[in-house]
Amino acid sequence: MNWYTELAARYGSPLYVYDLDRVTAAHADLRRALPDGFSLYYSFKANPHPEIARALRDGGARAEISSTGELNAAFAAGFDGSEVLCTGPGKTTEELEIAVDGGVRAFSVESLTDLWHVGEVAVKRGVTVDCLLRVNSAEPGAATSIRMTGAPSQFGFDDETIPGLMPRLRAVPGTRLAGAHLFSLSNSKDEESLVAEFAHTISVAARLERETGLPIRLLDIGGGFAAPYLASGERPVYGGLRAELETVLDARFPAWRAGTPEIACESGRYLAGDCGRLVCTVVNVKESRGRRFVILDAGINTLGGMSGLGRLLPVSVELDDADFDGERRPATLVGPLCTPGDIIARNVSLPPLEPGDVVSIPNAGAYGMTASLVMFLGHPAPIEVVARGHQVVSVSRIEFNRKYE
Ligand SMILES: *Cc1c(COP(=O)(O)O)cnc(C)c1O
Repeated sequence: MNWYTELAARYGSPLYVYDLDRVTAAHADLRRALPDGFSLYYSFKANPHPEIARALRDGGARAEISSTGELNAAFAAGFDGSEVLCTGPGKTTEELEIAVDGGVRAFSVESLTDLWHVGEVAVKRGVTVDCLLRVNSAEPGAATSIRMTGAPSQFGFDDETIPGLMPRLRAVPGTRLAGAHLFSLSNSKDEESLVAEFAHTISVAARLERETGLPIRLLDIGGGFAAPYLASGERPVYGGLRAELETVLDARFPAWRAGTPEIACESGRYLAGDCGRLVCTVVNVKESRGRRFVILDAGINTLGGMSGLGRLLPVSVELDDADFDGERRPATLVGPLCTPGDIIARNVSLPPLEPGDVVSIPNAGAYGMTASLVMFLGHPAPIEVVARGHQVVSVSRIEFNRKYE
């Protein structure tokens, strides 16, 4: 029996399996692609499983979190508050208090009012915290990439407003301006776009420092490192990135090699994406008006709930037992939910399948569980198995219990 089929038999289906060896390998590859001395934040949004986060912390990563749940996951993974960067456009006073009480001293702030909120909490707690200005840059960077800035946005300060705001930004009690944070690109299509975006980001930060006096001790240049998602394929290797970054930084921030400023990157999908696989079981197969539907025990409640929002992804399905044969025909792969939106993939070429057959979807370690409609239709959350190679390290399941107040 194939290992994934065996895990499903042992622990139940559907289940996610995460291989920590792959997390460690991804982390090492990304470190190799970046200049020495760079800091790297793991974006918990991709997958807050504490064991994944712990493997990254062991390799020297820090934590980028946006909620109390992610903060608690970071603590469960062994992170200290001093290793955490708290980001997000809607930080509430309660979340900020919990973060500050937990020792978090670095915040990315997205507006003047956000900075005030952080400052109020810091003053109440008698501390001073470091704040990076998240910047929404006006000029386009890499023309070839999907960018999240340049347009009106809930994220960051429109960079053209920063000079006028500077006196007020500097004067917020409890806070110290510590640098800039730009995150404008996700899942970059190639290394060239990544390099162009970073070059743009670094030049924006240098200009802000020069023109507004914004002190830049920490420059978080964001990410955009790509990874295959729910389809077969390998993580890209960024062979030229390190040298390109060094050249741009030498020109814009000549003292960066000595740590002024410290440079940081962020990644979720590159670090956690390829460690994960969703293993699930065929519940039923039916024909309707000439089309074959394969009904799985995992739908958008378990995987890629965002496809329920109309973004259907090119998903690949792998068959774990070797003895599937017979003529391959197209099938629509659906989940068990009572909504026509519960489609995992269309037109997948599959051999005849029967109830009980186990199939799996690769590269589901990032934005698998976290991007799913876990509450929808009331199925239990999938089991999560953490392994090193074929050695099971832990088995868990997130539980929802309604509590009446
Ligand atoms: C989502 C997010 C990331 C991680 O993006 P990936 O594409 O998973 O690497 C990093 N930084 C910020 C601010 C984010 O919102």
